[in-house]
Amino acid sequence: MAHKKLLNVENLTIAAIFAGIAFGYFFPVLSLDLKVIGDIYLKLLKMLIIPLVFASIFIAITSLSGKEELKSIGIKAFAYYLTTTALAVILGLFIFHLFNPGAGKHLLQLPSNFSVEHKDLSINDFLLSFIPANIFTALSKGAILPIIFFTILFAVGALFITEQKRTTLYNFFDSVNDAMMVLAKWIITLTPIGVFSLIAATVAKNGLDPIFNLYSYVLTVLAALAIHALLILPVLAFFIGRFNPYKYFLQIKEAPLIAFSTASSSATLPVSLEVAEEKGGVSKKVAGFVLPLGATINMDGTALYESIAVMFIANISGVELTLAQQITIFITVTFASIGAAGIPGAGLIMMTMVLDSVGLPVESIALIITVDRFLDMFRTAVNNWGDLLGAKLIQRLL
Ligand code: ASP
Repeated sequence: MAHKKLLNVENLTIAAIFAGIAFGYFFPVLSLDLKVIGDIYLKLLKMLIIPLVFASIFIAITSLSGKEELKSIGIKAFAYYLTTTALAVILGLFIFHLFNPGAGKHLLQLPSNFSVEHKDLSINDFLLSFIPANIFTALSKGAILPIIFFTILFAVGALFITEQKRTTLYNFFDSVNDAMMVLAKWIITLTPIGVFSLIAATVAKNGLDPIFNLYSYVLTVLAALAIHALLILPVLAFFIGRFNPYKYFLQIKEAPLIAFSTASSSATLPVSLEVAEEKGGVSKKVAGFVLPLGATINMDGTALYESIAVMFIANISGVELTLAQQITIFITVTFASIGAAGIPGAGLIMMTMVLDSVGLPVESIALIITVDRFLDMFRTAVNNWGDLLGAKLIQRLL
């Protein structure tokens, strides 16, 4: 039943993309008037970011409490998540520079008052910018990196209080997370309307060129995803885990396939657990820890896609990003992928934060929405494959 609904929204979204393109082309004035609908949709999505990031990171870390063995699994899992996510972002930036999609195509008109901040941050300022002097100021400003920094410390602190008190906090944030997921699902049902409005307004403003020029962006993302899934992750399996990842893939392939068709890591979780334990030779303990956590915070495909997407948007906006800004992208994307929920389109929600971090206009995601459904399936399959490979790798290292 849930899958049926999901498919309906997906189909309607695809229809909305085409309808939006046509509407924007034939009725440009009306399309610009209707842009407010798309803006409402975007704002609703953004509204969820902070509670989702806060709750999902808190519950992931506090679930680490307890026995030594669990701690050892936890440390290995976090090391794996961070390493593979960082590798994915670096690969994304590298492949982007190799293909340079959208270069020299000034397709997106930025607002006339728009200027990219070229802040020359010293390393001290940079480090200090992570630490919120006042968490409520950070929350009200939506400063995501300081919020994440605080959340991690807060959750680690919670590991040192009594179990009873920690459980109270855990249950609270777990409930917050669940309720946010419900809201996310509701908002996602508005996607066809939001997409229609955003696409129509984009076409009305920029013409059809950006959409036809997206193929270079799509191919760049797909090439980088393929290299990560088929080469980088398997190399880790061969050299660190000492097992054959391709053989393992054939054992557990149902899960990445379901991830591909649902575009949701969370929806795939029950299948991932089953195939890892029943067919992939991963113990219940390792799978039970690594996979649920991974479905929430380990998203290599999403990280890779976001790094390419933000660079592409800068390219077609005629904005050149400095090295410092690319380092900001590296950090923000790593955290954005950790904070992204395992639901369809979550990576796109987080793109708003990545664009914000380098001062690019958030509305420009309207452009890449046209191909987002398509890319979401591929990146979710890679997210899921990364989790399953991690489970096996950690199992081998115990
Ligand atoms: N759909 C992805 C997932 O569930 C997240 C994303 O949108 O990138 O893993």
